[in-house]
Amino acid sequence: MLTIALSKGRILDQTLPLLEKAGISISKSELESRKLILDTNLNDVKVIVIRASDVPVFVQHGAADFGIAGKDVLLEHGANGIFELLDLNISKCRLMVASKKDQDLNKSTLKVATKYVKSAKEYFYRQGKQVEVIKLYGAMELAPIVGLSDCIVDLVDTGNTLKANNLVPIALIQKISSRLIVNSAAFNTKHKEIKLWIQKIKQNL
Ligand code: ATP
Ligand code: MG
Repeated sequence: MLTIALSKGRILDQTLPLLEKAGISISKSELESRKLILDTNLNDVKVIVIRASDVPVFVQHGAADFGIAGKDVLLEHGANGIFELLDLNISKCRLMVASKKDQDLNKSTLKVATKYVKSAKEYFYRQGKQVEVIKLYGAMELAPIVGLSDCIVDLVDTGNTLKANNLVPIALIQKISSRLIVNSAAFNTKHKEIKLWIQKIKQNL
């Protein structure tokens, strides 16, 4: 049995064609159901649909053999128990610092609102800047507007969300794309089977 962990939304949408090319397909009715474990055309392959930030957790603990997660999520989770095997070049965006246009960012301690606490801390540490990081779970763009923070660290794609909230990009922290990750233990025991599937996905990228 092979279990693949994916997250609902853009990663699922952009991964389905890749799996399809590798010979794994999920029926429309299965996709439209509210099931969290989806059957595929293959009896021994299942897909679990979970929150994006839970994908590395399931893979790390061996509840999924492989999964697909954004580099942003992987940077926060850390490399414990997982191998990053393939850059799928999907769900591309940038992890950036953004703020109000006229914001003074030279204060001695910057307040940074973000969902990406680890990446933000590491970035500002490398810059030699002292920061107070405020963890949020969404709507980061609101923080500078209401005075919760001086800047944010968030994913930027078109920049339209920033613009709509009168924020400007300040610095690029990391280019983001989705990666195929495997459980490092399973990669050793189920090596052959997993490698075969990854090879099939890779040759169709
Ligand atoms: P949840 O909605 O469960 O809180 P999420 O917001 O992280 O999770 P998605 O919005 O589907 O879920 O994002 C999944 C991944 O897609 C992110 O981890 C990131 O790598 C990538 N991503 C997020 N926003 C964008 C974007 N605007 N453009 C391209 N890729 C993005
Ligand atoms: Mg989102």
